[in-house]
Amino acid sequence: MPHSTRPQGFATRAIHHGYDPRDHHGALVPPVYQTSTFAFDSAEYGAACFAGEAGGHIYTRISNPTLALLEQRMATLENAEAAVAFGSGMGAITATCWTLLQPGDEIITDRTLYGCTHAFFMHGLQRFGVTVTRIDMTDPQALARAISAKTRLVYAETPANPNMRLIDIAACSEIAHGAGALMVVDNTYCTPYLQQPLMLGADVVVHSATKYLNGHGDVTAGIVACNAELAGRIRLEGLKDMTGAVLSPNDAQLIMRGLKTLALRMERHCENAELIARRLAAHPAVARVYFPGLESDPHHALACRQMTRFGGMIAFELKGGLEAGRRFMNGLQLIARAVSLGDAETLAQHPASMTHSTYTPEEREAAQIPDGLVRLSAGLEDIDDLLADIDGALAAAQLRAAA
Ligand SMILES: *Cc1c(COP(=O)(O)O)cnc(C)c1O
Repeated sequence: MPHSTRPQGFATRAIHHGYDPRDHHGALVPPVYQTSTFAFDSAEYGAACFAGEAGGHIYTRISNPTLALLEQRMATLENAEAAVAFGSGMGAITATCWTLLQPGDEIITDRTLYGCTHAFFMHGLQRFGVTVTRIDMTDPQALARAISAKTRLVYAETPANPNMRLIDIAACSEIAHGAGALMVVDNTYCTPYLQQPLMLGADVVVHSATKYLNGHGDVTAGIVACNAELAGRIRLEGLKDMTGAVLSPNDAQLIMRGLKTLALRMERHCENAELIARRLAAHPAVARVYFPGLESDPHHALACRQMTRFGGMIAFELKGGLEAGRRFMNGLQLIARAVSLGDAETLAQHPASMTHSTYTPEEREAAQIPDGLVRLSAGLEDIDDLLADIDGALAAAQLRAAA
């Protein structure tokens, strides 16, 4: 018997939820069920599993005990009834869309999206008769004007990759529901530790678990969290039949290892990012910093309302634009020049030529992704070492600019 019925905290659930060692020979760490298929006790039991009458596992593309434990943990952390695990964030996003959209439907999105999500919407969904309408969703009134009876999904990232625009989840969810549409939020940048979109009114949360949830840069994975009915449909249509984007049980185990330190890591990511953002904002070589934790940031008030801290991601522009940005990146010695984010290692990348090269120059301009923008994912290193590397790279960018 538990000592009390008080709900457990976030870090406790990230470590313990859904698992009792006594059910597994005392194994402290959940075993990995590295199997593709499951033996049925009888032909009748197998038939009952297929008919959905017995709850047993059938085949790992549909479900697996190791994946199920990860799904339960992500569901509790997002305050969702259910979650579904995928082999990548794009697997989660495409499976959600293939399940919920059909020809003639419309999806409304903000102009700024992760590069491959942008490519999927513009070059994938549109080929199959779905209308993709892009608006500036930082203004909820723009959503209220654009939405109509054929709108099925409203889709946003907040903060958005890469320019740190924030979308008001509560306001946009209310507008979506008024028109009979569902609100989908990509919560990759925040993780449920910093922001819980379902509690703010959203219907579906999608994640690239490749990033902070795993946190160690050695797995690609995705998560969808929503109500049980939708999750069941996304599993059986989007995952089983339409994408096959299944996660390997070994990789699910690595994500669960990452979740055990998520709360600790997010605090340090946030701490380091705040200090780096303030250093950049005070530097004469820097033209503009995009970070919602700065009081001067246009999204600061909204960030205080819907996030518990400001996250580990920063974008900035140097005076001298693209060339100065390239010199900065080449001047880094400790910080890696790499895409992805949320790892222990601090990473720097150039969206216009890397993650957001799927946009045309006109689309980048409309999305407010300047060519000189540099994106930083603040890692877990000692802040003094990070600031020294950034100072050195800024000096190198400035020196050669003057030469
Ligand atoms: C990386 C990323 C994705 C895609 O996830 P993968 O795991 O790389 O497939 C989607 N959305 C955001 C915000 C991302 O950063």
